[in-house]
Amino acid sequence: MKDVLLKITESSNWVVIFTLLILLVWEGYAPYFSFFRQKMKKRALHAARNFTLTVMNAIMTSLMFIWIWNWAADFTTVHQFGLMNQFALPAWGKALGVVLLFDIWTYWWHRFSHVVPFLWRFHRVHHSDPQMDVTTSNRFHIGEIFISNVIRIPLIMLFGAEFWHIALFSALMFPVVQFQHANIGLTPTLDRLLRIILVTPHMHKVHHSRYYKETNSNYTSMFSIWDRLFGSFRLSKDLSKIQLGLNHFDSDKKQSLGGMLATPLGKNHTLPKSENKTELEP
Ligand SMILES: [Zn+2]
Repeated sequence: MKDVLLKITESSNWVVIFTLLILLVWEGYAPYFSFFRQKMKKRALHAARNFTLTVMNAIMTSLMFIWIWNWAADFTTVHQFGLMNQFALPAWGKALGVVLLFDIWTYWWHRFSHVVPFLWRFHRVHHSDPQMDVTTSNRFHIGEIFISNVIRIPLIMLFGAEFWHIALFSALMFPVVQFQHANIGLTPTLDRLLRIILVTPHMHKVHHSRYYKETNSNYTSMFSIWDRLFGSFRLSKDLSKIQLGLNHFDSDKKQSLGGMLATPLGKNHTLPKSENKTELEP
């Protein structure tokens, strides 16, 4: 079992690239929303902007954090520190335990990002995309990724994670995150079956709605159980009517690379909550 998990981890980059290509083709031939139909130039510009943020985050993470995470994981393993080291579990059991712990943490981190004004300033870069597709899956402000990367250091120690456990979590989570953001639709039956376990395109389109009650739902990244367990699971009666994005952030200036990087400094800092009268009612 450990060998299988290690294989998944080793092939993670290829899985992410393969998933990206499949979803780009799927979105091209059978998009759920038609915002890019017959608009190849617009789609390419949108992708280029989102990919630029992705590359910036990847460079920052690999230069500043991979070695620290590695050090934290080694320290934890050598000193048998952290939660998963307190149980006599097989190697694969520890690995899956760490994956579950990181998935719960990601749920709560995401939820905090919606209710803490300082965090929402950064997180709204991700939500402000009115044309959400697979390229949105890594459209995050570099500040948001920096803060979550820093928090990951004590979490590695607290959870008792080995470095390959963290790589396994990323390898499993990224394809699910790409899939849930893609501008695709599954049949209602397939979406219903899949969301028993994982986050589906239906669930995550609801999260990216600009209607605040929908924005503040479906926070989980991989396993749908956390939304059901913590009371934030929500579906839409008519998904095709959902309006993606955020009010005040639709202009080309806000959607440009500079506009996205400046978004945390912008004037409109309202959180997605009921007091916000500018939010659209469905
Ligand atoms: Zn969110």
